[in-house]
Amino acid sequence: MRCKGCQAKATVEVRHHNAAYCNDCFQDYFLKRVQHNIRAYKMFSPGDRVLLVVSGGKDSLSLWDALIRLGYQVTALYIDLGIEGYSQRSGDKCREFAAKNGTSLGTISVKEVWGLSIPEIARKTRRTPCAVCGRIKRYLFNKCALEGSFPVVATGHNLDDEAASLLGNLLHWQTGYLARQQPNLPATHPKLVKKVKPLYTLTERECLAYALIRNIPYLAEDCPYAEGATSITYKEALNHIEAASPGTKLSFLKGFLKHKGLFREYDGEVELRECSRCGQVTTEEVCSVCRLLERAQKRSAAQQK
Ligand code: SF4
Ligand code: ZN
Repeated sequence: MRCKGCQAKATVEVRHHNAAYCNDCFQDYFLKRVQHNIRAYKMFSPGDRVLLVVSGGKDSLSLWDALIRLGYQVTALYIDLGIEGYSQRSGDKCREFAAKNGTSLGTISVKEVWGLSIPEIARKTRRTPCAVCGRIKRYLFNKCALEGSFPVVATGHNLDDEAASLLGNLLHWQTGYLARQQPNLPATHPKLVKKVKPLYTLTERECLAYALIRNIPYLAEDCPYAEGATSITYKEALNHIEAASPGTKLSFLKGFLKHKGLFREYDGEVELRECSRCGQVTTEEVCSVCRLLERAQKRSAAQQK
């Protein structure tokens, strides 16, 4: 197979575009897609300071690399979840990438902030680690962005993540989530920072190919709590369909974004206010993270008596 860009021998096949590229042309293709997504959704401009949340995996590190090469002002933030072994290894990969590229990395540790790790908070509140983790990560990156005066937060969610999340939301008719699912979530309150996903049209496989070609030191293992997560089942189902009909994932997501207006009525106006304890944005008197942490810390104190 020949490269679509230069006719040299192709190394990466991009089936949903019915194309193949050599290593150099694939990098151009990847960077162009990222740039296109940023511009098409007005995610940020070259002068904006962007806070990028990195996990040590191939997606967020590939995005970090791409944003640096595209000349954006990017600052990376690693959230240490306190997951035994895994968090140390994923933090190491982020630090290695930062050192290799002569750039800095901000770190915030859940255990240092609240005295408990994600698995401990989950155990003490009898919730799944993923349910606790998602909420706390969103809370922390918004807080860090506000404190650092960043106008926008970027994450490494790719096409597979977005299509799986769309499938899950449709299967359960989560109309409120469907109304808000988009690659550019604007700030709806002065204390909420805009959130963007520049990789939303690039597959997990394309991010992996980019990371390998660029020799990015990513962590190949998954979080131990990812096993059995419903999002993995949805990804497998979509991969199965994609194998039989290349391009389905992309057209599924793009079609949804085109017809998103159908769900507008479900994006109910909610009254946003500031949490009376921490000042972060919530719909209630006390935000869900403060309530969650209060329960976990109470149980922790009771167990120590
Ligand atoms: Fe957090 Fe769950 Fe993802 Fe692990 S798999 S990083 S616990 S959301
Ligand atoms: Zn709060």
